[in-house]
Amino acid sequence: MDDLRCPHCGQELVPFELPDVTGWGAPFHMACFNDDCPYYTGSWRWMEERYGVRAGYRYRLDPETGEASPLPVWSPSAVKDRILDVEVERSVVSPIAVEVRP
Ligand SMILES: [Zn+2]
Repeated sequence: MDDLRCPHCGQELVPFELPDVTGWGAPFHMACFNDDCPYYTGSWRWMEERYGVRAGYRYRLDPETGEASPLPVWSPSAVKDRILDVEVERSVVSPIAVEVRP
């Protein structure tokens, strides 16, 4: 699992339970929960400037498709209660489109 890292800050991606599993391929997604991640910290200002809302987003990866997308959060602690305390095998994560750092 140590090769799945956030491309923005380099921190390990953490699995979390999806609020609603219907419609998603995988029962969980991976996300960067680093509060100092530049992707995350920059998102708050971006959302405020563009939409005038106090919200941000974290880097999120769908392990099944290897697709990255923003995970909307409304507070720094949002979604953290859904973090799964499990080891994610590298093999369950699609190698497609996942950048593996050397
Ligand atoms: Zn990050």
